[in-house]
Amino acid sequence: MNRECFFTFYFCYQRLLKFKLSAKKPLNGFTRPLARLIDQFEQLPGIGPRTAQRLALFILRQPEEKIISFANTLLNARKQVGQCHKCFHLTAEMECEICINTTRDKTMICVVADSRDLLALERTREYKGLYHVLGGLISPMDGIGPELLNITSLVKRITDDGISEVILALTPSVEGDTTSLYLAKLLKAFVKVTRIAYGLPVGSELEYADEVTLARALEGRRDV
Ligand code: ZN
Repeated sequence: MNRECFFTFYFCYQRLLKFKLSAKKPLNGFTRPLARLIDQFEQLPGIGPRTAQRLALFILRQPEEKIISFANTLLNARKQVGQCHKCFHLTAEMECEICINTTRDKTMICVVADSRDLLALERTREYKGLYHVLGGLISPMDGIGPELLNITSLVKRITDDGISEVILALTPSVEGDTTSLYLAKLLKAFVKVTRIAYGLPVGSELEYADEVTLARALEGRRDV
């Protein structure tokens, strides 16, 4: 390849690269900083392009002090919120509010996959015991084995803290069931292990329920 040919090739390659980059992220009539802001919002879970646009335009209309306060809140939350040393729920302290609450039943642990499940159970105001957040579910397909979850610390809590019952509250899925089975086998030697009942959603019609849900509802029946 002679020198002239090389430069022509290089020039074409650069143009193509530039075209590919701009084709990947079209500006759609927005100035670049605004397009970047929309792109950031779009990366958040549950936010589509239209909502991202609405949020970005809303941000632009806010006074500068409000934006600074919002940005600082984001940074501080990221810096300060960590995991509870005991149960792995989100907290800015060493131990979370649930673990240090003296009115809670310290003999029961409810095992959940992540903090969102814990918060959902807390909203029911039915459960007054402690929790343990696993940090996920066993999933061989995704390379997640029990060693990657907070299981050793759970066993330690059960043996050290005089726990009398462990309630498994994991999603009824292949991964959830695999994890429940694994934990039940592992923990039954030390403690009473129960599982939350799975059944029909409140207000739903029995005839429209799928077979698996109905079978689970029958399996989880109890005296009335
Ligand atoms: Zn805790």
